[in-house]
Amino acid sequence: MTRLSAVKPSGHVQLGNYLGAIRRWADEHGPNDVFFICDLHAMTVPHNPGRLRALTREQLAILVAAGVDPEVACVYVQSDLVDMHGALTWLLECTCTYGEAIRMIQFREKGAGQTSVRLGLLTYPVLMAADILLHGTDEVPVGEDQSQHLELARTLAKRFNHSYGEVFTLPRAVLPTVAARVRDLSDPTRKMGKSAGDSPGVVYVLDPPDIVRRKIRRAVTDDRAAVRYAPDEQPGVANLLEILAACTGTSPYTLAGTISSYAELKESVADAVVETLRPVRERAAELLADPAELDRVRKLGAERARTHARSRLDAALEVAGLR
Ligand code: ATP
Ligand code: MG
Repeated sequence: MTRLSAVKPSGHVQLGNYLGAIRRWADEHGPNDVFFICDLHAMTVPHNPGRLRALTREQLAILVAAGVDPEVACVYVQSDLVDMHGALTWLLECTCTYGEAIRMIQFREKGAGQTSVRLGLLTYPVLMAADILLHGTDEVPVGEDQSQHLELARTLAKRFNHSYGEVFTLPRAVLPTVAARVRDLSDPTRKMGKSAGDSPGVVYVLDPPDIVRRKIRRAVTDDRAAVRYAPDEQPGVANLLEILAACTGTSPYTLAGTISSYAELKESVADAVVETLRPVRERAAELLADPAELDRVRKLGAERARTHARSRLDAALEVAGLR
């Protein structure tokens, strides 16, 4: 049973990525898990090559630092297998119709209002299908926004199998058991996101403690001066309580009853976030300062991923008439 998860190097890893995904990956991973840094996907919008390279290394370092063990699970960088992802993408582009591609809601949303759109923004769901099918993935934990892409991957797998021969496993979307949905500290109506640019409300995993504290002290609250857990009426306060709950393993309701002022709440959140991120930040910094070790991990992951994917890709090329 193979399960596949990815993180896109579109920005620095933020607190929501850690509390909502990476921490769970670290707790629950096993030999059937494949994690990859999807750097090819970070190129569908204008990107800076040097920054992409640096963010890719940073994300790999953070995954490992957080406790996703590259000796247990397969942890790799997508472009290290660019030949394989690229080859399968082509087979699947020749399996997908133009009509199916332009129906993708994400393409419409992300392309809307742009004068020029990279063709890759249209075709990346096919690359995503290739990522999934390459590894014989059974389960993909994805959010609501990705379910249409998962459906496309299933459709392409079925069509390919039907046309040429049974090669691909049909993947299933599974709803991730989300521990926390972290919202932007400066605009709690919006989710915290790593590609939000320079928002003062995004806490990055590698932010030094004083920056983390400053961002949390400046978090938007309200003028009710009542620490209650009421997400609709007091989204800022509720977000802080949820972050504190996620860091301390308690419930936001319980916490609300024990804290009397916004200042106290922010201090508690700042302490908890700094302590939660500290080991990850410190270990990631060590890895980033030790390129040989990071390269070793990267090579190990690429070799495992290659071995895992090889026979499936060969079979697909073969049945499609290419060998
Ligand atoms: P982008 O802005 O590029 O979409 P992102 O911060 O949303 O970046 P993704 O790469 O889309 O990050 O997602 C990586 C993982 O982090 C996913 O499993 C996603 O569900 C989770 N995640 C992202 N943002 C949050 C958040 N604010 N709270 C909880 N989980 C989150
Ligand atoms: Mg996202």
